[in-house]
Amino acid sequence: MERLQKANHNNPTDYIQNNFPNEEIFRFILTHPDMDHMSGLKTLFDKKYIRNFWHVPENKPNPGGWENSLYDKTDWEFYQSLKKGSIKNVNVLSPLRNTNADCCWVQDGIKILSPNKELIKIAEESKEYDHLSYVLQITYNGVRVMLTGDASKQALDDVVKNYEENELRSSILLAPGHGSKNHISIDFLEAVKPRLTVVSVAEGVDYDRDTYKKHGLVLSTKYYGNVKVRINEEEKIIFRTEFWDYSNKWYPI
Ligand SMILES: [Zn+2]
Repeated sequence: MERLQKANHNNPTDYIQNNFPNEEIFRFILTHPDMDHMSGLKTLFDKKYIRNFWHVPENKPNPGGWENSLYDKTDWEFYQSLKKGSIKNVNVLSPLRNTNADCCWVQDGIKILSPNKELIKIAEESKEYDHLSYVLQITYNGVRVMLTGDASKQALDDVVKNYEENELRSSILLAPGHGSKNHISIDFLEAVKPRLTVVSVAEGVDYDRDTYKKHGLVLSTKYYGNVKVRINEEEKIIFRTEFWDYSNKWYPI
C-alpha cells in the first residue's frame, strides 16, 4: 500500500519543480504528438521558462473525445500554439535525422537517428504517429544513452538499416513504446546491446519482459518506481530505484 501511495506522487511537473526550483529548462523534446507524452505541457510552461521546444513536423488532427479522456484538451491546444510559433520567447525547432547545427545539440552530444521525411510520410498516411517518434542517442562522458520515444518496429528497423552497428551500440536504453511487444525490433536490440534497459510502464500494464531480459539488466517503473541513472566522471554508470532490490544505495552496472 505504501508503495502505491508513493507511486501516485510521481508527477513529472512536480518532480522538476521540487528538484530544480530555480533553474530554467534549456530544451523540451516532444517525441511525438500522443497525449501521454504531452500531458501537463501547459502547466510546465506556466511554471518554468523553457528556452527550446522540439517537435516533429506533423499534421495530426485533434484527437477529440476530450469529455471522456484521461487527458486535458488545454495541453493539445497549447501544443498547437507552440507549433504555430505563437508562444513568445520559445525557440521552436524540428530537426530530423542527422541534422547538425552550430548550436547546441551536437555540442550536447545529441544525435538524431529518427525520424526522416519518409517516416513522417508513412506516419501521416497510416495515421500511426509512432512511426515518426524521435529516436535520439545521447553521449555523455563517453557513455551512450538511446532514447526511443514510442518508435515503431518499422522505424527502429529503418534506423538499423541506416547506421552501422557500432554507431548504435549504447549502454543505456529507454525501451521504445513503453516496452510493448509490437515495438520490439530484435535487430535494433542486437545492435544497441544495452547493458541496462529502463522501461517506462504503468503499474498493471504488461511489457515484453521476456525479450528485454535477454539483453542486459531490465528495470521497469511498473515494479521499481522511479529509476535514476547517473553517469559519473570516470565513464561509470550507477543507478538506484525507488522500490525493491536497488532502493537503498547507488549500484554500478
Ligand atoms: Zn507513449
